[in-house]
Amino acid sequence: MRFRRQRADMVRKQIEARGIADPKVLAAMGKVPRHLFVSEALWDQAYGDYPLPIGSQQTISQPYIVAEMTQALQLSEDDRVLEIGTGSGYQAAVLAEIAYKVYTIERIHSLYIAARRLFDRLQYHNIVMRYSDGTSGWEEESPFDAIIVTAGAPEIPSTLVSQLAPGGRLVIPVGDQHSQELIRLYRDENGIQQTSLGGCRFVKLVGEHGWRL
Ligand code: SAH
Repeated sequence: MRFRRQRADMVRKQIEARGIADPKVLAAMGKVPRHLFVSEALWDQAYGDYPLPIGSQQTISQPYIVAEMTQALQLSEDDRVLEIGTGSGYQAAVLAEIAYKVYTIERIHSLYIAARRLFDRLQYHNIVMRYSDGTSGWEEESPFDAIIVTAGAPEIPSTLVSQLAPGGRLVIPVGDQHSQELIRLYRDENGIQQTSLGGCRFVKLVGEHGWRL
């Protein structure tokens, strides 16, 4: 009950108030129990306006960023979405509330296992996971209607662009290790259009087509 109230406040004051209007995104963020995606010691901070540590030097993104990236994907209910960087699993759960199926990849084993347990417990049957380097995408399941990268990349991996379906959207933070620009890429019949959604700060995307360790 306590968390339901905090969650409603989060949606209203942090997300709607800053201009996120997609009703599907607002409903999803009002539903997913964000506190369960952090350790119990952090439950009281789970609905705050900031990122939080999730172990292995990684973070769950600030609620507003999750909402902004989700809205930028322009999801419909029959879309298949690829996420690189499962982390806590929170972003994947938000996507799973809206889209048909979510494919998510994590390279740190302990995070992968914890997220898998949580998806089982919360009965997210439309999330499938893989433990690997996500910078190569998920060739066997491609193409995707939308791809979201939740770690900062030095540049846009061309492997991911090539796994986008016609009409597909890709959202990815691109920049150096201290700050990045959130890029939205749209693939249509004529080619690729790119727009910037502004500055952001993510942990590193580590892998063959990302940063080297
Ligand atoms: N979407 C997550 C955010 C996690 S932070 C959430 O909602 O909690 C970014 C995550 O990306 C980290 O867990 C990190 O281990 C992972 N990551 C970084 N590089 C990766 C790669 N090449 N493949 C898969 N996961 C990666």
